[in-house]
Amino acid sequence: SPPDRRHLDRLSAEGIDVVRVTYPDLIGTERARDVLVDHLPAACDHGLAFCRAVYHTTPQGDVVPVSGGLDAGLPDVSVRPDLSTLAPLPWEPGVATCLADATDPATGQPTPESPRALLRTVLDRCAEHGLSPVVGPELEYFLCEPDAETPRGWRRYSGTPGAVYTAGLRADPDNHLLRTLRQLRGLGIGVTNGNHEFDGGQFEINLTHSDALDAADRAFRFKSAVKELARKEGRLATFMAKPFNDAGGSGFHLHLSCADLDGRNVFADPAAPYGLSATARHAVAGVLAHAPALAALANPTVNSYKRFGPDTLAPWLIDWGLDNRSAMVRIPPERGAGARLELRLGDASANPYLLIAGTVAAALLGVQAGEEPPAPLEGYGYDPSRSALLPTSLPAALDAFEADTALTDLLGKDFATAFLSYKRDEVERFQRHVTDWEFTEYGYHL
Ligand code: GLU
Ligand code: MG
Ligand code: MG
Repeated sequence: SPPDRRHLDRLSAEGIDVVRVTYPDLIGTERARDVLVDHLPAACDHGLAFCRAVYHTTPQGDVVPVSGGLDAGLPDVSVRPDLSTLAPLPWEPGVATCLADATDPATGQPTPESPRALLRTVLDRCAEHGLSPVVGPELEYFLCEPDAETPRGWRRYSGTPGAVYTAGLRADPDNHLLRTLRQLRGLGIGVTNGNHEFDGGQFEINLTHSDALDAADRAFRFKSAVKELARKEGRLATFMAKPFNDAGGSGFHLHLSCADLDGRNVFADPAAPYGLSATARHAVAGVLAHAPALAALANPTVNSYKRFGPDTLAPWLIDWGLDNRSAMVRIPPERGAGARLELRLGDASANPYLLIAGTVAAALLGVQAGEEPPAPLEGYGYDPSRSALLPTSLPAALDAFEADTALTDLLGKDFATAFLSYKRDEVERFQRHVTDWEFTEYGYHL
């Protein structure tokens, strides 16, 4: 559809001459094209041609396309700006960003790997049940500084002794958090607060809750913005799951509740067990039942599985608990309008759209099945005699995802095929690669 005259007027009133059209690819990487504002009407009419491939980085640092890319002759996708998402980029005067959808140039239909379209499909299924999921994202990341002395070229920011959870300024002498929060405020993505996390150089920033697609859009923009702001300072913000051996991983916790058509939270029921409605309990049961498959979306890299483990505050077992941070699903203490679950499974590397779509889909399957969860765990959660283990590797999670046909039917077979083929290629590349650990372990004495 052509841009509404009001959108164009607003852009010129704000002195915007370039619109950065961005969309998330299959793995959640931001793909962008800068469009001169005069060309925006044409871009909206015909879509912008991007080559379809997703990319990976070789050990030499080369970025090469894989999967549905070279093998298929690197065909186009037609990327259609969604003007309702236009937002000025505060640190780049004259530039606004706009999210977009990847569509097939022949049919105009979303491509199977279009994460925004996938999430919309799942939300339509919820709407058929009169349910409108509400999501609040929490993301952790590590800030790194250049360090020529280390083989990677990066070390963790600060390293100040006492750099612990909510340590405040003493863990952030350069005010990284303050500057970032202020910049993000101008982007209008609903950032509410931030804190220093458990490990030196690790931060968490929280976003307000809203309907699921908007929350996914904001989380996607958040990750891109934090990386971009750090890059402008010569630093690296990484959302990989477990970047350092001597520090914990970075989570992508999701708060999930559900509104009915009147906007009331249907997870609340003061008279029900735990103050949680049947819908909420079924949603918990669904997330537990589909957790092994969900891990493929929530923990989508070979590195992700190094974050799991006992005593990490990341999950290890498939369990739930009332205000218990050692559980995979935590029920925060608020009830009534604030009744919700916190899924602690996801790590920061997850594509926000796929994490949210998968979580909502698993919850919906639980609601449809009407299952009750087991009794919530109490006390120390990391006891493997009580609950089943999460998958311990990406290949195991991919197998669980493929086998969970209820979930893949809901998400779409074409998506599942594209995702599995991309991720299995990633696993294969990893398995062929000789790591530093192997040389240290075997190189000297064998
Ligand atoms: N860093 C932990 C994780 O990977 C979470 C710590 C916290 O509870 O904030 O999930
Ligand atoms: Mg945290
Ligand atoms: Mg949390």
